[in-house]
Amino acid sequence: MNDTPVESLKGIGKQKSQDLAKAGINTFQDLIYYLPKSYEDRRSPTPIANIFGEGQYFVAGKVKNKRFKYMGRKSLLTFDVEDQGGGVLRVVFFNGIYVNNMIHQGDEYSFFGKISYSGGWIQMVHPEFAPLGSHEDERGILPVYGDIGRVKGRQIRSLMRQINSIDPLEATEEWLESSIIKRANVCSTSYALRGIHFPREKKEILEGKYRLIFDELLTLETGLLLIRGKYGNKENGVIISSEHMDEYVKRLPFTLTKDQKKALNEIAGDLESSSAMNRLIQGDVGSGKTAIAEISMYAAAKEGYQSVFMAPTEILAKQHYESIGASFQALGIRCGLLISKQSKKLRDRILTDIAAGNIDVIIGTHAVLGEGVNYNKLGLVITDEQHRFGVNQRQILTEKGQNPNVMVMTATPIPRTMAVAVYGDLDISVIKSMPKGRKKIITKVAKDKLERNATYSKVRDELRAGRQGYVIAPLIEESDAIEASSALELYEEMTEKFSEFNVALLHGRMTGDEKTEVMEEFYAGKVDLLVSTVVIEVGINVPNATVMVIENSERFGLAQLHQLRGRVGRGKFQSYCFLILSSNSETSNQRAEIMEKNSDGFVIAEEDLKLRGPGDIFGTRQHGLPNLRFAHLTKHVDVLQNSLKIAKDILKDDPRLAKRKNRHLKDRVKRLYGEGVNLIL
Ligand code: ADP
Ligand code: MG
Repeated sequence: MNDTPVESLKGIGKQKSQDLAKAGINTFQDLIYYLPKSYEDRRSPTPIANIFGEGQYFVAGKVKNKRFKYMGRKSLLTFDVEDQGGGVLRVVFFNGIYVNNMIHQGDEYSFFGKISYSGGWIQMVHPEFAPLGSHEDERGILPVYGDIGRVKGRQIRSLMRQINSIDPLEATEEWLESSIIKRANVCSTSYALRGIHFPREKKEILEGKYRLIFDELLTLETGLLLIRGKYGNKENGVIISSEHMDEYVKRLPFTLTKDQKKALNEIAGDLESSSAMNRLIQGDVGSGKTAIAEISMYAAAKEGYQSVFMAPTEILAKQHYESIGASFQALGIRCGLLISKQSKKLRDRILTDIAAGNIDVIIGTHAVLGEGVNYNKLGLVITDEQHRFGVNQRQILTEKGQNPNVMVMTATPIPRTMAVAVYGDLDISVIKSMPKGRKKIITKVAKDKLERNATYSKVRDELRAGRQGYVIAPLIEESDAIEASSALELYEEMTEKFSEFNVALLHGRMTGDEKTEVMEEFYAGKVDLLVSTVVIEVGINVPNATVMVIENSERFGLAQLHQLRGRVGRGKFQSYCFLILSSNSETSNQRAEIMEKNSDGFVIAEEDLKLRGPGDIFGTRQHGLPNLRFAHLTKHVDVLQNSLKIAKDILKDDPRLAKRKNRHLKDRVKRLYGEGVNLIL
């Protein structure tokens, strides 16, 4: 660890050190972890005759046929380079007066640049050059660094050399135990850093980067496991008998699907085991996850345990409270709603009841884990579409002296490996089979005005038949103000178009109360057509709604379109989804086509992945994980799995990273997670 400030390097003054500081680089150590963005292979010149295709090449030869001419105020320098093999390449410099004076006919130089082809010639325009054998004629695999403010990439290369001469990378101290290095089959830190900045062979770069990726993922996974409290939390998980599950299953107005049954069996196993449940329930919209949640909460209540059901929004919390509450109240199970917009008096009463154990099932937003909420006997926590759950929440619960069973429900098709990374050491149940009798939603794309009109006349037919519908306003990510105003415009158009019906508006700029009021009217069937922004996205369940129009549908991600579409087709009626396209680009058409053809969320997510690349969907941010510098969660799945196993073993042996041999790992975890993890370590 070299903590020498970068300012002590030659060539780094006040200004440049400020630029480096802005990028988080203050010490030698920091700079060493700034990696090259690419490399130039200048080990030995390529014979010109062997140049093939485009790309960058390093060549060397004698300058011939040098010509320099003025064309008005501009100038053009051209010459040929002939190498030992007799190959010839043309070099071109525009406005090359300066170069003209440096390059001499008949002398030998090396050139590095991009190859292009023009008029039958292989040529390089504006290559880098140096007299052959001179000091500037650098050889080797040269790292190329990105600029950091006023510190240019080329200077960074020389800074690395300075550091290396003061404190050779080859001698970097190892932070990881040798047994782990062996087990993970990674190279040493010294080899990695030297290989990355001063590679002798290309494989050293790959091995070096692999090591840094491993280090980062090991740190990530160790932190996650610590935060999840899976280790070191010596109290056992709450044991709940599943004896009463069947009573509730029998009361349901339908029979469970095969996958629902399977998930339920897995949950029963978890509840009955002495280690706390940590399970992800993954199932497409409408696959019946809520029923699974109800059955589990019923079983817990019958055994005298409290359950928490956490919804992503207040609207959804209220919706669940009403529907779950209705079935539970009839069975003598007491439910309570906890949301932030509640009178203090009501809230206080609920809090008292929770603490006294007079409420069995608490439904709400993340407020359910907030300050002042003290559970009497918490046995089960269920979260619905709350991906961020866990990074801090399990810790909060543990601090409240509880180690409940945790179930995370999601309709987002997260690949298994990713889910494990995000949720730590968890189990997964997948619900794939859909309830019987569900009609497939008919999806149609509307590309022009005519088709848009036809769409709205279909909407009119549905409303006339007594059904309800949604019109989704364009997604405007940069600004909810603009989003709201475009929703308003659409709302005005719809009130005019559908003057004989009740049209309502819902957007993110409305207050919680306003939103709730609109939703209640929609549930009650008083509103026929709801114009809404994506605030409607998750979980809304109105079986009488059979038609959805999504305006500017090309602005939405496919996964999001799928979520939105899942708001219709929830009852016995045939349902429709219309995607209005206002762009005729190839990708928009392709994406719309994927939606027309597929109804399986997993398939759609895969297609989305192909079109957009992994970064967008499975970014670390979205899951509340810290930012990663070297590793990529989807690209480095194998490393991820490996590091998870190793992290588990480290924590089994040393649950709080208290042993001296783990002190560096502990520091790294703290640095990666910051505040969140400080309480535990
Ligand atoms: P999810 O939460 O997975 O999106 P829900 O639990 O809201 O899905 O279920 C959607 C609808 O399907 C609800 O109206 C629910 O009552 C119903 N449902 C759930 N399971 C079944 C089943 N096995 N058979 C028939 N209908 C079901
Ligand atoms: Mg749901």
